Amino acid sequence: MSDNRQKIIDENKRKCICEPCPSYTECMRAGSELLFCVTGKSPDCIFEKRGCICPTCPVRAILGLKKAYYCIKGAEQEQQ
Ligand code: SF4
Ligand code: SF4
Repeated sequence: MSDNRQKIIDENKRKCICEPCPSYTECMRAGSELLFCVTGKSPDCIFEKRGCICPTCPVRAILGLKKAYYCIKGAEQEQQ
C-alpha cells in the first residue's frame, strides 16, 4: 500500500458515516470495518441492501466520489 493511500485512509476513516447506515451490520462493526469506498468491499460479512447513506457522507465529497454501496460493490475504482 502506498504512503499516499495509507494517508487517505488514516485521514478519512474517522469521518466515515457508515455506522448508522441501515445496511451496516454487527459483523462489520465487530471488524471495525469502515471506509469501504477506499479500501474495498467487506471481505467476510454477509449483508443486504437496506439503503446507503454514502451520498450524504463528507468523505465522498472530499474525495470526489460518485457511487454508493461500497461495502457491497467495492471501492470507487472497482466500480468503474
Ligand atoms: S462514502 Fe460511504 S464508505 Fe466512504 S467514507 Fe463515506 S460512508 Fe464510508
Ligand atoms: S458503504 Fe453505504 S451501504 Fe455500506 S454501510 Fe456504508 S453507507 Fe451503508
